Amino acid sequence: MVDERSAGAVVFFSETGHDDPEYLLLHYTAGHWDFPKGNIEAGEGEEQAATREIREETGITDVKFIDGFRMKINYRYRHGRRPVQKEVVLFLGGTKTKQVVLSHEHIGFAWKKYESAMEQLTYQNAKNLLTAARQHLRRLTS
Ligand code: ATP
Repeated sequence: MVDERSAGAVVFFSETGHDDPEYLLLHYTAGHWDFPKGNIEAGEGEEQAATREIREETGITDVKFIDGFRMKINYRYRHGRRPVQKEVVLFLGGTKTKQVVLSHEHIGFAWKKYESAMEQLTYQNAKNLLTAARQHLRRLTS
């Protein structure tokens, strides 16, 4: 059973659409590096929640999601003594905005090419997701 559901996206910036994109990572106050994401509110669709969270967490408002990419990751963590089973749905979206305005929820951000994004991301399931996102983009542009 899932206790918490979040939505977010692998947000990429590409100058020309043909170069190696840069991916947006956020430094969470808990210490990990991950994609922009947040809780899906009651009555909200997944893409709607992802769009809202990206706007609230980064100030970016022009992300366009790529059709056909929707992946889930699941993990467990402890909130005090309470175990939480969480599911995160992630989309893949391009932006032309490089400027990021952080909220209080994060302590840093980075635009990273694939290899260094893989080093920066904390969790293996997020790394696997980035690999799948890059493969999806490569198939579209080849
Ligand atoms: P949200 O951004 O969805 O509002 P949050 O900031 O409240 O979430 P999470 O990023 O889910 O919280 O982090 C909650 C806990 O889960 C932290 O202790 C974090 O280290 C851990 N965590 C985050 N992502 C993963 C993951 N992919 N795999 C395992 N544990 C994770």
